[in-house]
Amino acid sequence: ISTAALVKECLSRISKHDSKVNAFIEVQNEKEIFNKALEVDDRFAKGSFIGSLDGIPIAYKDLFCTSTLPTTCGSMMLKNFKSPFNASVVNFLEESGAIMIGKTNMDEFGMGSASVFSIFGPVYNPQSILFAENHLEKDNNKNIKERRIAGGSSGGSAAAVAAGMCFAALGSDTGGSVRLPASYCGVVGFKPSYGRCSRWGLVAYANSLDTVGTLTRTVNDAKLIYDVISKYDANDSTSMSPKVRSINSSIPSFFKSDSNTDDLRGLRVGVPKASITEYYVSELNDSIIDLWKKGIYYLRSQGASIVPVSCPNTRYALSAYYVLALSEASSNLSRYDGVRYVPNENDNLLYADTREGFGKEVKRRIMLGTYALTAGSYGNYFLQAQKIRRMIQKDFDRVFKRPNPLHFIKKGTSSIDDDGVDILLTPVAISTAPKIEDCLETNVSVDNNSSNFVNAYVNDVLTVPASLAGIPSISVPYGVSSIDGYPIGLQLMTQYGDEDTLLEVAKVLE
Ligand code: GLN
Repeated sequence: ISTAALVKECLSRISKHDSKVNAFIEVQNEKEIFNKALEVDDRFAKGSFIGSLDGIPIAYKDLFCTSTLPTTCGSMMLKNFKSPFNASVVNFLEESGAIMIGKTNMDEFGMGSASVFSIFGPVYNPQSILFAENHLEKDNNKNIKERRIAGGSSGGSAAAVAAGMCFAALGSDTGGSVRLPASYCGVVGFKPSYGRCSRWGLVAYANSLDTVGTLTRTVNDAKLIYDVISKYDANDSTSMSPKVRSINSSIPSFFKSDSNTDDLRGLRVGVPKASITEYYVSELNDSIIDLWKKGIYYLRSQGASIVPVSCPNTRYALSAYYVLALSEASSNLSRYDGVRYVPNENDNLLYADTREGFGKEVKRRIMLGTYALTAGSYGNYFLQAQKIRRMIQKDFDRVFKRPNPLHFIKKGTSSIDDDGVDILLTPVAISTAPKIEDCLETNVSVDNNSSNFVNAYVNDVLTVPASLAGIPSISVPYGVSSIDGYPIGLQLMTQYGDEDTLLEVAKVLE
């Protein structure tokens, strides 16, 4: 297929479906991008290629800075913001030939699990749009199915991939924002280790947790993108250093990169003990438990041994995450003060008035985060949460066979733990995609007596442990719910730095 035909197909799907899905905030000018595609085809005809993603249409969550299209973060604050530079990962992809098709919709500043907190309106799960239409035809317009959310905060990226509007999309994952929408939309969502991919030019939500992630249709596609963006970048002070990268590759993994084998004999798969506090949370939907069991049996049938493991501190992960993420966010978002970023060119407003530009959820989080950092509560909240984070990291280090390359450096004496596991298998989400009505701000009461907005945070309970520990994790579509027919993903996690094993096992599972 020619680049021109590929780009044309994406654009035509966008024009056909995006008025209903609302995955994109900005799409490239049709003529310009089409001409660009023709140039690429001309180049191909002359036998000249740039890189592994030559002519491939990619979408970016609208918090990756791009110098050609605006970068809004789904917020009124940045409605008119155009970055003078590209994010490093955007540059890496362009250097390998990728074509940006547009910027995708998201929860404001990445804060949310439903992609309904955007000034551009909610993202609709393509499954509910496409199914609904099929259904309409069959049932003669009688039965219109309810619309579902795409999940958040990278909902636009997940929906764009699920609806075939681009080949792949970048998202960001702070506490699950790539994996959760991937599970809801039936695509692959991959969050590499913290520091693997540069955060330079990614608008910060919570710096110590933010990671660049990919949304793709297959695990192979995820690997293709990952291979291009997984590079050391001196512009990002938390980028995994060349030294750690080389130590990491000297530690044996179950799978070497590109081993191309389905044989799982000898692989040890950890499954958290069936206790109500470790992943097997009480909110977990039955149809998800069924598919989780199916996944366990399948890996066993491929030769893996299943090992019950215990991560006792997982039960505190969600609370610790929300203290830490919101504290960092409250500090990060102080830069939107009306001096450096001006929501409305004609206004001359400074601090307090400008901050009216934030949406309700963002304001709520700034207040909670600021509170956690005040002198009176710092010790009770922020410090405790940091301690829990460390305990969770230790839990993971204890269960994995492979040593953590970061500790390897400090002590110089970590070794393989034969009783440990190579990989963990859990669900991603506690349910299939919820109905959109149940998530909209107007229908969620936020008066002082209500804890509804806190209830929404429970959707992240299965994804935040990997975020707190900084370990790689992937959501792989694993069938549909026997109750409502919507997609369900299973989550794999490996030791820090062990993306090779993660991706290879994910290929077997998908
Ligand atoms: N839903 C989580 C939050 O709102 C995670 C968001 C994310 O990963 N960006 O904080």
